[in-house]
Parts: sequence; structure tokens; C-alpha cells
Amino acid sequence: MLYDDQNIFARIIRNELPAIKVYEDEQVLAFMDIMPQAEGHTLVIPKTPAITLLDLPPDAAAYTIQIVQKIAQAMKVALDVQGIVLMQLSGASAGQTVPHVHFHLIPSSVHELGKHALCMGDQERIKALAEKIKAEL
Ligand code: AMP
Repeated sequence: MLYDDQNIFARIIRNELPAIKVYEDEQVLAFMDIMPQAEGHTLVIPKTPAITLLDLPPDAAAYTIQIVQKIAQAMKVALDVQGIVLMQLSGASAGQTVPHVHFHLIPSSVHELGKHALCMGDQERIKALAEKIKAEL
């Protein structure tokens, strides 16, 4: 399967679509999930065009996981959460819906995931949570 450079996350990286960003550098972007599975649900993506984790060059994967850890540390303090689920779906068969590799950081429990219907989050609330995480970075 070829990488589609018109996928939503590729367009967010190019600033063609809006996102509530919490972190950005030359290689990685982190932003709030638009349909959070828990308050503070954040996505971390490498800027390298790759569909799944399996397509991502190891050096990009290694750098991205460092940022995943950095965001998780900030999230733990900023949101005062005890547990964070790190989720990464590789392939539509696994449930991946956006064909650009991404890591979910979900301040919740694996036992709670999937229990609640997903819906658009309150954008103002999501922005406020993003500001808290950014302040800890
Ligand atoms: P996955 O099912 O692992 O592919 O996850 C894709 C995630 O991207 C879902 O949690 C969606 O809520 C989220 N998502 C889709 N579009 C956007 C968007 N424009 N901004 C932020 N998050 C998005």
C-alpha cells in the first residue's frame, strides 16, 4: 500500500488542517485527539511519511518514542493522572483508521477503553487540557 499524502495527519503536519498542538519539532508533532477516548487523549506522530509502525524507519521510531515518553511525563503531572494507556494500531485490520503512523496516549485504563461512545470532544475543554500539558513540557 502506498502512502497517501492527502491523509488527515499529513495535512495537519503541513498546516493545511487545524489541530490543537501540544508539541512540535522538526521530526515529531503531538496534538489532541478530536474524539478523545478520555480527557487529555493525545496523539504523537512522526513527520516521516509512514503508514504503520512497521513502515517507520527505526531511527524515526526511536526518536518518536522519546517524545511519546516526554508527553506522557507532562500529561501525568499536568492532568494528575495515575495511569496512561499507550496504544498504537498498525493496519486497518487492527482498527487503524488514519493511514499515518500514530501513537495514542490515553489517560485512562485499558479496562475502560471502548466502553463509551465516541463523539466530538468539547473543543474549549480540549484546548484547556492542551494548555495544561504544554505548560509542563
Ligand atoms: P486510529 O483508529 O488508531 O487510526 O486513530 C485515529 C485517531 O485519530 C482517532 O482517535 C480519531 O479520533 C483521531 N482523529 C481523526 N481525525 C482527527 C483530527 N482531524 N484531529 C485530531 N484527531 C483526529
